[in-house]
Formats: sequence, C-alpha cells, structure tokens
Amino acid sequence: MRVNWRRTPGTNNTRAVLSAALGQAGIELEETTGPAGHVTCYSLNVANMPGLLAEIDGADCITIAGGPSATACWPDVVRAADYVVIGEGERTLPRLLAAIEAGSTDPVPGTATATGGLVPPDNTVVLDACPAFARGRGYIECSRGCPHACAFCQTPRLFPGGMRHRSIDACLEASRRLGDLRFVTPNAFAYGSDGRTPRFEKVRRLLSRLTREDARIWFGTFPSEVRPEFVTAEALELVTGFCANRRLHFGLQSGSDRVLARLGRGHTVADGLAAVDRTLDHGLIPVVDLILGFPFETDDEQAETVSLARELADRGCRLHVHGFTPLPGTPLAGGSARPVIPAARRLLGRLALTGKLTGSLDFGG
Ligand code: SF4
Repeated sequence: MRVNWRRTPGTNNTRAVLSAALGQAGIELEETTGPAGHVTCYSLNVANMPGLLAEIDGADCITIAGGPSATACWPDVVRAADYVVIGEGERTLPRLLAAIEAGSTDPVPGTATATGGLVPPDNTVVLDACPAFARGRGYIECSRGCPHACAFCQTPRLFPGGMRHRSIDACLEASRRLGDLRFVTPNAFAYGSDGRTPRFEKVRRLLSRLTREDARIWFGTFPSEVRPEFVTAEALELVTGFCANRRLHFGLQSGSDRVLARLGRGHTVADGLAAVDRTLDHGLIPVVDLILGFPFETDDEQAETVSLARELADRGCRLHVHGFTPLPGTPLAGGSARPVIPAARRLLGRLALTGKLTGSLDFGG
C-alpha cells in the first residue's frame, strides 16, 4: 500500500514524527503535492485547512486528516476526509493503516469517520517508545504536553494529560546523530517535572549527559522556549554552564495583569520582569513573546503592552510580537482579533526597523 504525505508549510515536525513512527511499522511515508497513491495523509492547521478541505473532498484516494485543526474540528473535517486522526498520531496512524490494508471495518480508537463518529483514543504516547525528531528535523523532542491551559494555546488540548518526558538515555541515543543539539518542548526548564514545580536536578543531569566536545547545546531558545516563573538563577546557570545559546526565549504575552489572568497564564507582569532582570544579570539576552489583539482586550490594556514592549526594548530585550489568531479547539476559538491601536503599530514598526523586534506584524485593518 502506497502511503503519501501531503506537503504543506508548517507541518514538517508532524511529518518527521509520523514518518519515524510509520518507519517502525515498516511503512514508508512519501511526500506529494496533492492526493496520490492509495492513501494520502494531511496535517491540518489554522493556516492550511481552508485551502485543503476542497482538495481532500475531491481526492480519488483514501484520505486521512490529523493535526490540531482536524482534531478540534473533526465533525467538519469528516465531511471531506475518509478518516480523522484525533490528537497524537504515532500509534493511531499505523493502526489505522493496518486496518485499511486488512479491509477491516472495526473502529480504530483515536479516529473519527462520517459514519462511525468519534472513537476516543485509548492510548497516550510514551515518548521513549517513538523516535525523537532527530533524524527528520535535527531536534530532540524531550518533552510533550503542558499542565497550563493558556486560552489561546492548542498544546494542552492536543496533548491532554499534562507533561511527559523522553528519558535521558533516549535523548542521549537521539543526540548521537546530531552536532548541534536543539530541543522541542513547551518549557525546556520543566524537563523531568510536572510542568509546575521545577526539577532542575533533572535538567542538569540531562545537559551534563548530553555534553560532548563536538556538540553545541541550545536550550531555552526556539523551539524550546521556557515559562517566566522557571527563569531562576539555578536555571540560568545551567544555560550559561552547559549551553551555546546566549539568548533565552520566554513568553510574557501581555503588559496587563487583567489580560494575563483572563488568559490563564499563571504569572503576572512583575513575574515576567523579574525573569527579564535575572536573564540580563546572567549575561543572556531575553527574547520575549507578546501578543496583541485578544478579543477581550481594551485599548488601555493594549497600551500597557505597548508600554511594556518599549521598556523591554530599552532594557536590551529582543521582542517577538504577534497579532492574536483564534485557534480551533481553544477557549478563544470563536473570537475575532481586536484592531491594534495606532501607538502599537508605530512603536512596533520602529523597533522592527532597529532589529529589536521580529514576528508577524501584519495586524490587518
Ligand atoms: S504554557 Fe505555553 S504550552 Fe502551556 S498552555 Fe501556555 S502557551 Fe501553551
């Protein structure tokens, strides 16, 4: 059975994970630019789903859709796709493909179809049982899932059940193929923990085991950002002691405590500024995420974020700013982005010109 992967921007990590998992099952995933072969798999996100549903609907082959938007919007997606994979695909997709090849009509846990509806997943992926990203992408996925529930974020909805980690031995094994060691995790400093209370001794053990002369370690920088309350002196000394990065990336998201509380961020603006101070004190440059245009945000609250952005830039931070995008499956899914106030456009434009700011500055309007 020939199984294809529909190539689309922003889905390379998913392809790498699934390709490795299918490889363990003896199935090769070939890339295509349209439906082909016996089966074509799609990963649907907020950017590509509107353009791909018609293609899936018109495909002559069996179609399987997964990813954050397919998981959140499966009742819509099963009108076009033959199967939807709900949540994690590493175990579900090989089982589904085996069932298709065998001609079985038994429901496969973790899938949805137009006729059978949703069959809930019966497993949570154990990271050690699946290859890391290392071969396809050059990253090691050391942790997955998040115990926090920020209202704009799909991570805890796509990977429910809190935080899981790849063992140090498995990270070490994956690292042997790599020169630069980079990690995928929702919070690098939460390695080995429940995602709320740091276990820095485990982070230290991970970094010391991975240290070798011919490899540089990048930790706490994209794609392994951290949360501000985990930015302690002990954590920063791990970065300065073991790692090559001289930047640390974390999200503050807003300059308004009311907005942070409504988002369920679990930290205040003051917590974020304390993390900035500590980072600078350790000789690292903070890279700070901010989001503008939440549906419930007032102009005054946006002005607080603008004022925070100015202060952060003056202190030597780099800013990573985005306009709000409502993501399927999140509490803010039905909301619309509020217009960004002129003062924000002016300041962000100036900071971008001086190289202090990156991100998506197309706020519409
Ligand atoms: S802490 Fe990060 S990964 Fe976790 S819910 Fe919030 S934004 Fe998502």
